[in-house]
Amino acid sequence: MPDDQIRTGRCNCGAVRFRTRGPLREVVACHCSQCRRQTGLYYAATNVADDHVEVEGAEAISWYQASETARRGFCATCGSALFWKQRDATHVSILAGAFDQPSGLRIARHIFCADKGDFYDIVDGLPQV
Ligand SMILES: [Zn+2]
Ligand SMILES: [Zn+2]
Repeated sequence: MPDDQIRTGRCNCGAVRFRTRGPLREVVACHCSQCRRQTGLYYAATNVADDHVEVEGAEAISWYQASETARRGFCATCGSALFWKQRDATHVSILAGAFDQPSGLRIARHIFCADKGDFYDIVDGLPQV
């Protein structure tokens, strides 16, 4: 079945809104220390081709250059974490929690589990890297 579904989402204050078209990658939960600090927990994000996402209020996004190769976009007003973008990539990661519900998204696996916070356990039985 072709997935031409439109999904929408936004930051907490609504200054940044986005709309995706078509299939989205399954959600990957990243437990690395950067994602832990940015979110207070872990980063659960899908991924979409640049030409399948429209962003409204892009001027409200603040981009933090988190490493030489990646930057993290968040709403400069309300602080909601929204995007993760790798240099030269034609895809952008979008936080699963920013999507309007129901999102139809599912977590598929966990990555950087060795760096996860010590205050929770991963107990969903999904693959851990
Ligand atoms: Zn906002
Ligand atoms: Zn991470």
